Amino acid sequence: MKFVDEFRDPQMARRVLERIHAVVEEIPTTAQRPLQIMEVCGGHTHSIFRYGLEELLPDKIEMVHGPGCPVCVLPMGRVDDCVAIAEQPDVIFTTFGDAMRVPGSKKSLQQANSDGCDVRMVYSPMDALDIARRNPHKNVVFFGLGFETTMPSTALTLLQADREGITNFSLFCNHITIIPTIKAILDSPDMVIDGFLGPGHVSMVIGKAPYDFIASHYKRPLVIAGFEPLDILQSMLMVVEQIRDGKALVENQYKRIVPEQGNNNALKAVGEVFELREFFEWRGLGSIDHSGVRIREKYARFDAERLFAVEPAHVADPKACQCGEVLKGVLKPWECKLFGEQCNPETPIGALMVSTEGACSAYYSYGKIDVKQAV
Ligand code: SF4
Repeated sequence: MKFVDEFRDPQMARRVLERIHAVVEEIPTTAQRPLQIMEVCGGHTHSIFRYGLEELLPDKIEMVHGPGCPVCVLPMGRVDDCVAIAEQPDVIFTTFGDAMRVPGSKKSLQQANSDGCDVRMVYSPMDALDIARRNPHKNVVFFGLGFETTMPSTALTLLQADREGITNFSLFCNHITIIPTIKAILDSPDMVIDGFLGPGHVSMVIGKAPYDFIASHYKRPLVIAGFEPLDILQSMLMVVEQIRDGKALVENQYKRIVPEQGNNNALKAVGEVFELREFFEWRGLGSIDHSGVRIREKYARFDAERLFAVEPAHVADPKACQCGEVLKGVLKPWECKLFGEQCNPETPIGALMVSTEGACSAYYSYGKIDVKQAV
């Protein structure tokens, strides 16, 4: 298939892998400890396990699976908030499919639907707006979720609702931003990250410049990476070459998709509709300053948080659930006591088992269990 097969060429992959192995041998610190390279994006986590790339990398590289799966970092309390809105009379609650099964403290949205709430899966916020047009006597709420990748489509939908004068559509905004989160990871004392594979889709919107502080201040390399096997391997080679050469640069491997300056139209729509929150709570990472957005006062009439007077609930994860440790790379998924038994994709207990981009789900689906370490 044109534009796909080229990025899955096994001969080429072998050549890039040979170079990665050779470069890593030239890095003296790897004799003491493996390099810790974080793939920020859940899409990369999925590709790494789907194509077995971690197995092919040198033992001296350890992948740390980052927080870039928006469903996985959704705290339980926010799911409870969604259920509380969905339970209001005359509400149609709309959401992307992945979020349906994320457990809340009492139930998921899917269970709320079984209990009689009107919860509908949509593929885009525009689908939700269409439901609002067709159901003028219902209040249609869209669960806005995701990083800068999905933020523009939510913003554009809200602007469209505004233009059409639609009054029965609102947004429960849980959009999050990637830059403060990477900063929180770099500031975290229990995490040592030597370099990053930067998120491809987010970067398509925000461009390359917002990552500059990672190189200039924290002296870590970051390479914005595509999602095919050769994209990931080439990006890894670019990261380890920088480490070997004592460099810390932001590079863009995914140039065929990511413009250096990002997408100005998308950024303009986002800036028009959203403003930063002072802080936002993440599953496993706690509260991170300026890591989420809310709807500006100007568009308050579309804000489900205000319309339904949602007071963000703080709910602790179940005691045995170790999503936080996995998210921070302190534990591998199979080291969680619940992995594969009580927690599996059919009956997820933690959010990392729900989305296909979650590390636990990826490990479970593609059989990536390090038996040597597990026994
Ligand atoms: S196995 Fe389940 S509970 Fe344990 S870390 Fe993974 S998702 Fe969380």
